[in-house]
Amino acid sequence: MEIIDGNQVAAEIVAELKAEVAGTAGRKPCIALVRVGDDPASISYVKKKEKTAADIGIESRLIFPPVTITQDELCALIDTLNADATVDGILVQSPLPKGINEVAVFRRIAAEKDVDGFHTLNLGKLAQEDETGFVACTPAGIMELLQRAKVSLSGKHVVVLGRSLIVGKPAALLAVQRKQWANATVTICHSQTKDLPAITRQADVLIAAIGKAEFVTADMVKPGVVVIDVGVNRVPDATKKTGYRLTGDVHFPSVSPLCAKITPVPGGVGPMTVAMLMKNTVKAFRQNRAS
Ligand code: NAP
Repeated sequence: MEIIDGNQVAAEIVAELKAEVAGTAGRKPCIALVRVGDDPASISYVKKKEKTAADIGIESRLIFPPVTITQDELCALIDTLNADATVDGILVQSPLPKGINEVAVFRRIAAEKDVDGFHTLNLGKLAQEDETGFVACTPAGIMELLQRAKVSLSGKHVVVLGRSLIVGKPAALLAVQRKQWANATVTICHSQTKDLPAITRQADVLIAAIGKAEFVTADMVKPGVVVIDVGVNRVPDATKKTGYRLTGDVHFPSVSPLCAKITPVPGGVGPMTVAMLMKNTVKAFRQNRAS
């Protein structure tokens, strides 16, 4: 069994982006990081993004409106960033305060600056295999991890647990693409799927993204499977200072001995998400300069 090290792969991507940015003359890529209010988790996520951007040489424009901002004011702020030619990517940190329509805000971001890949147009481009679009960072990170771990999906049966627009569906669309390393046969499962273990046991590659701690157990996989565990769940743990530990959607102790390869939680898919956000930002910069 081999552990796929997301920290190492993310560091490789950051180093590649740093070299690319260092080699570009003139203005550097710029990402606007919009964080509404003072939610502690959002503060820490945005700090991590700001730090990784700085490591690469990407400029971060930090905009922290108060929690009292209205939907119209937030949309007006996004319009200003959309119109600013020196801003290549826009990231609005989720969750937004109650009363603000998150989907409407994400759709307001110009598709060519939508480095989170949530815009309808970018989802459409993914479905059309149009590479000018932006793919959501977590599924893009999953595919990058698989490729760099030399796991070809071609002809394999990929089972995706979860059908969210930010993980499950785009991951399935990527796996089924007409590309040499993709070309998978894909099954998407969700909460209404009947006899889930019978399906997961057929998986050559299992992508678990349901948000249920240690849901996938040894009896649900076949020997030799590659498992990508996307889940991030907090489970109470009195031995930890925080009172909890992080765990994935897969019961790692019993499943990992059966796997050819598996991602751990933490340290698997998680670090890839920020790296892919930066990759999207550099792509947006490249496309912005070429337009
Ligand atoms: P989500 O929007 O809540 O979607 C969960 C999906 O799982 C839904 O499609 C749901 O089915 C399905 N599901 C729930 N219970 C199920 C069950 N018992 N059997 C089969 N399917 C079931 O979650 P998400 O945003 O995709 O995130 C999934 C997990 O990934 C979470 O733990 C999240 O924290 C984590 N995550 C990690 C990263 C990262 O960077 N590592 C990024 C994003 C998300 P229905 O559609 O029928 O409800």
